[in-house]
Amino acid sequence: MSFYEDLVTQTQMNYSHYYTVYASGRTPYELTDKPALPYDQQIARLVQEIREADCVVVGGASGLSAAGGGDFYYEDNASYRKYFGKYAEKYHFNGAFAGMMHHWATREEFWGYLATFLHTTQTAPIRPPYLDLDALLEGKDFFVLTTNQDTQFVKLYPEEQVAEIQGDHRFFQCAACCTDDTWDAVGPVAQMVQAMGEHTAIPTELIPRCPHCGGEAFPWVRGYGNFLQGKKYEEQYEKVSRYVLAHKDSKLLFLELGVGRLTPMFIQEPFWNLTLSFPHARYIAVNNQYNFLPKQLEDKGMVIVEDIAKVLRDARASASRGPMQ
Ligand SMILES: [Zn+2]
Repeated sequence: MSFYEDLVTQTQMNYSHYYTVYASGRTPYELTDKPALPYDQQIARLVQEIREADCVVVGGASGLSAAGGGDFYYEDNASYRKYFGKYAEKYHFNGAFAGMMHHWATREEFWGYLATFLHTTQTAPIRPPYLDLDALLEGKDFFVLTTNQDTQFVKLYPEEQVAEIQGDHRFFQCAACCTDDTWDAVGPVAQMVQAMGEHTAIPTELIPRCPHCGGEAFPWVRGYGNFLQGKKYEEQYEKVSRYVLAHKDSKLLFLELGVGRLTPMFIQEPFWNLTLSFPHARYIAVNNQYNFLPKQLEDKGMVIVEDIAKVLRDARASASRGPMQ
């Protein structure tokens, strides 16, 4: 098991042990009671910490995806209607994930919905928070670890610079995991969406199938109980492990963006652990809800509680004005 995956596994065990604490939205760690800096000073410090770091590990989670306009996963709102309008009218789902959990009467309609779901992320433009982050990191040595499946980071950076540990909407796997292969989903999804037109179901012959067993394919993503944790999955953990270990003695900044309370084990707590154990590491989190800075890290880190899109926009503007005098 790679270094980073091992960290995640340990964190998961801790999570199970303190499940009731986590489930109530809290953390078993003792948090700092130091008052936060005023917002403008936090932005200046964020820019300065990025500037002074030798390298940065970005941890991009659900809050970043939501800040970038991917806000239709858990609610029936204007953007859900824009992309899933015909399903919203017919089934009144409360967001994109609700439709994924629906018991569809036919495989053709299930795939119509799933193709719509995948097509939305596959064809989405790169959203402003990701572009602002990219501008902030310009000229830096950095690596991206993400639990988002929305392919935003891989639209910006080469695969070797991004670890997608919860999968990626651009790939299919065998739904029964009969093989360790993954294959392209972008072409088949475009075909399904085109063939469906204004209907809610795809033609039977377009249902994507596993080339090995002939069973149905499924997107290569965690969340539905059949996530293929094979070669491609291990590669993601190997990439982030290599980067972190190669830079453990550098001025390494862990920059956490939008981790929710249900999944602290992939980015947040490993980042805490590494910041504590590496001598020159620093930690900054941006979160629109939770102000969770462990007491042990109060001199090595900061949390900005504010809308992520706003923070990245303001930090980019501040950075472009040059170093503070
Ligand atoms: Zn198969």
